[in-house]
Amino acid sequence: MFDLTLTFDNGPEPEATPGVLDVLARRGIKTTFFVIGKKLAEPGRRALCERARAEGHRIGNHTWTHSGPLGARAEADVAANEIGRTQDALGALSDPHRLFRPQGGGGALGPHLLTADAAEFLRRGRYTCVLWNAIPGDWRDPEGWAARAVEQCKAQPWTLMVLHDLPNGAMRHLDGFLDKVAEAGGRLRQDFPPDCLPIVDGVAKETLGRFVRGKE
Ligand SMILES: [Zn+2]
Repeated sequence: MFDLTLTFDNGPEPEATPGVLDVLARRGIKTTFFVIGKKLAEPGRRALCERARAEGHRIGNHTWTHSGPLGARAEADVAANEIGRTQDALGALSDPHRLFRPQGGGGALGPHLLTADAAEFLRRGRYTCVLWNAIPGDWRDPEGWAARAVEQCKAQPWTLMVLHDLPNGAMRHLDGFLDKVAEAGGRLRQDFPPDCLPIVDGVAKETLGRFVRGKE
């Protein structure tokens, strides 16, 4: 028995997101989509987020350009340009808790995730920072990720997993993965394990320092 919260990052993608939504709808599973602002601004893609939201999924912010973990970037105004601009683009699509997921750059957790300015931007803007505790690597192994994902679920009581609604074929295995989860007694839920949230509605926890460059 285990709990599993699913999240889908890096969309919306016309060739991947609708299929993911179809599988989730058929199974009655609610999740969160962390979208890239620049993609959201492309023609036709906003409708994918509107559909997701209408079907009960939460929509979060996953930076404007997704061009590297924020803690590794030195340019001024990176927080406003990456986080604030995306939040503005989300508008009414945004979850009320203003969910933000930093880019991991391969999935690692650490002080490369945020700059001190970005952490302060999230606090002042009353964001909730949503990390993860399972990265099965669907983007680099579109065929083999699902078996790894099941093992990751079995290894801990509550998994917050990062998957990607990208057009690389990996999501063809989503339905089969969810069959395996069900066979193993997994329970799907939409809320997040508290350990994965270093900032909740703008309030930072002690753990935040682990994810801010220069503060670790
Ligand atoms: Zn990402």
